[in-house]
Amino acid sequence: MTFPSSNLRSGDHLTRHLPQPILLVAMATILSRRPFVHACPLPRERGSITSWVLTTLISTFMLVGVLLWMVGASAPVERAKTGADVHIVCTTQMIADVARRVGGERCHVIALMGPGVDPHLYHPTRDDTGAMITADIVFYNGLHLEGKMTDLLERTARSRPVFAVTETLSHDDLITLSGQHDPHVWMDPVLWTRTIDVVQEHLSEIAPTGSPDFERNATALHREFAALHAYSQHVLDSVPERQRVLMTAHDAFSYFGRRYAFDVVGIQGISTESEAGLRDLALMIDTLIEQHVPAVFIESTVALRNIRALRAGAQAKGHGVQLGGMLFSDAAGPDGTYESSYVGMIDHNITTIARALGGDAPEGGMQGKLSPTQ
Ligand SMILES: [Zn+2]
Repeated sequence: MTFPSSNLRSGDHLTRHLPQPILLVAMATILSRRPFVHACPLPRERGSITSWVLTTLISTFMLVGVLLWMVGASAPVERAKTGADVHIVCTTQMIADVARRVGGERCHVIALMGPGVDPHLYHPTRDDTGAMITADIVFYNGLHLEGKMTDLLERTARSRPVFAVTETLSHDDLITLSGQHDPHVWMDPVLWTRTIDVVQEHLSEIAPTGSPDFERNATALHREFAALHAYSQHVLDSVPERQRVLMTAHDAFSYFGRRYAFDVVGIQGISTESEAGLRDLALMIDTLIEQHVPAVFIESTVALRNIRALRAGAQAKGHGVQLGGMLFSDAAGPDGTYESSYVGMIDHNITTIARALGGDAPEGGMQGKLSPTQ
């Protein structure tokens, strides 16, 4: 097999990992000889014993060689196909989008969790483990968003650079709910801008020759996020003050609420993991009625049932509540759509919220790019 000369890290990976398994196989073969001989009928002639042992050893080495090639070497071959300098693995789509934009053509980026995937409940697959142990760098959200991936992230960090994109956020930057830092930082475009700098810094560390490109890409992305924030501020300001209440399935929108002065109420707590945070529906229904809130929202990653119960409860008290639409909470839109990007995802949310709660926002969103069916 061959590797492009620019993809030195794949070569590094191969030389670093192959000798150790071969050594282990050799030891295992030597150790396995004695019980294996006893377990088989003994050959009668001395010549036959020698040839039998040799044949066994050669077959074992060949078999193990093939297995090693399949397991150990397949990942670098896969990686070499992309021809990228830096292979980046990210947990969520929102992080992958930042990495893709900052990394540009030099980087190959994958997101482990796709559209509609709930990161609070996500268990890593065998493929995820393979992707992480062959990555040049791994970015995750942190703040316990990827609760079921903690072990894998810790194990990966022993041999690869692994960084939380929220690592530069201080306690004061973060919202604390029920004694935990709220992980849904991407809901505030201003705060999420800080992740650009984290990605840029760490990519420059591992691929210094790309540093000028990363810096230029990061600057362009800063400008886009600033435009997204300006648009959000503008259209959300048009929502009548009393109706600035966002009711959703779980508490993913607190950073949004803090940034744009909305009351945010999630039926479940900041994690979808347990029902323990289930709030008093009756209290929420009273708020809906008192503040004439016209709509509640469903989320792309959370089951509908709680929102249904909320609407039914309000209806029973004579207050009809519309479904304001689907919001992207913990994952972005389908691959290949505008909404799969961070800007597209937030544009969709802001535009949907503003329009459903009585504000004024263009149907196509900030750039006229929103999918009409969303
Ligand atoms: Zn969440």
